[in-house]
Amino acid sequence: MALHFFNTYSRALEKFAPRHPPNVSMYTCGPTVYSNAHIGNFRAYIFEDLLQRHLEMRGFKVHRVMNITDVDDKTIRGAREAKISLNAFTEPFKRGFFEDLDTLRIKRADEYPGATEPHYLARMIEMIAELIKRDLAYQAEDKSVYFRINKFPEYGKLAHLNLEELRPTGRVRSDEYEKENIGDFALWKAWDEEDGDVGWDSPWGRGRPGWHIECSAMSTALLGDQLDIHCGGVDNIFPHHEAEIAQSEGVTGKKFVRYWMHCAHLLVDNQKMSKSLGNFYTLRDVIAKGYSGREVRYALVRVHYRVQLNFTFDGMEESRQALTRKSRQALTRIDEWLERLRETSASQKARGTPGPTDDFQRVLDDDLNISGALGVLFESIRETNRAMDANELGATAAKAWLQWWDEINRVLALDAVETVALPSEVEALAEARRLARLAKNWQKSDELRSELNARGWEVRDTKDGQKITRRVGPEP
Ligand code: AMP
Ligand code: ZN
Repeated sequence: MALHFFNTYSRALEKFAPRHPPNVSMYTCGPTVYSNAHIGNFRAYIFEDLLQRHLEMRGFKVHRVMNITDVDDKTIRGAREAKISLNAFTEPFKRGFFEDLDTLRIKRADEYPGATEPHYLARMIEMIAELIKRDLAYQAEDKSVYFRINKFPEYGKLAHLNLEELRPTGRVRSDEYEKENIGDFALWKAWDEEDGDVGWDSPWGRGRPGWHIECSAMSTALLGDQLDIHCGGVDNIFPHHEAEIAQSEGVTGKKFVRYWMHCAHLLVDNQKMSKSLGNFYTLRDVIAKGYSGREVRYALVRVHYRVQLNFTFDGMEESRQALTRKSRQALTRIDEWLERLRETSASQKARGTPGPTDDFQRVLDDDLNISGALGVLFESIRETNRAMDANELGATAAKAWLQWWDEINRVLALDAVETVALPSEVEALAEARRLARLAKNWQKSDELRSELNARGWEVRDTKDGQKITRRVGPEP
């Protein structure tokens, strides 16, 4: 089967054909940097990482953009409460986000545009002006600018939505009085007192962009009017992605996106893991309990992206353990298998068994069927282990299997080597400890080791200096 993906727009599996092969343009909605991302968010980012890696394995050249939403109600509120500038407030969360990406081995996108960068703000304003010119947007009495959904007949096609459902019924919230239609969404939000010193000048007065226009402006600015793939979690479908289509196509008159791909949620007791429900773990929470980025990556990647990952256990603690225990077992199997293969490949054994096939890749071609692909991996492990038990696997075959692992690991990124960059505070402690040891201050050195341990890091002193690794937690 050739490469196929499920397109949310058509609700069907479609053969993948980018506009300009082998190039693929891909836009993925990024984090709002008002706190650290939770593992639900990372389920979305890991799905996108798997998608990019598989496309690359299949020879495509992926150009991926992920936006950073660094202005919205929540970031403004956070900055106000902390009594610091918006930028000072969002900066540490941005940095933390990149550290988390490294921890989970998520490939970096080519670009991470920020919504408050002047270049993109200018583009948003330009797009809004164009929409007004085309009668697709209007400034309301409250001075905000809204998209006029009645004038865009395609509105609702992505979400398969009946527009009638968006008509006002009974009471309308006071902040929506000004709009012509309850479904009209804000493109430009007029400044109000809550915004404090956050705001930009525009032809419609001081204000700030709406969240949806940010993505339309940044995606088209960097990837052109027409994208091959646009991703997010299913909660992004409406209104966010629906609005992106209306704005982008409203301005360009061209089909915005070929393939819309959305991942199902990470749930807790049948509810979406989310900040607002308070039922979430940040990646840092999980790592602090002693689990590695590799284990969490495995836990989040192993279930098909369109299948919900649900925790129905009593407490979050238990679900976290179940999530990571499975990973630990699976990863140990892989590690032990690789170890055996390495021994066999270095031996003189001449006998061979059938070598690897490309089943792993072919299974992934079917809408990223990762559970099927992992099935191929574990079945291969079982078979080769059996052959090694029976002394039937030769050195050449073992080498072929090791090579196969290297290849599939370009997609899985599950090798045992922890390659994460050290968080800055850990790096500072490690450096302080190095200096303490140079000064032969052993007491200080021990204190710093305890400090690093407490933060979940293991320190080993070797002839090449100290080695810092993630601490492996207790078996749950
Ligand atoms: P947000 O910061 O809420 O805009 O979310 C960032 C990304 O994470 C979006 O693509 C969301 O769709 C996705 N997301 C949020 N919560 C979850 C969840 N519980 N499971 C999977 N993806 C999620
Ligand atoms: Zn977006």
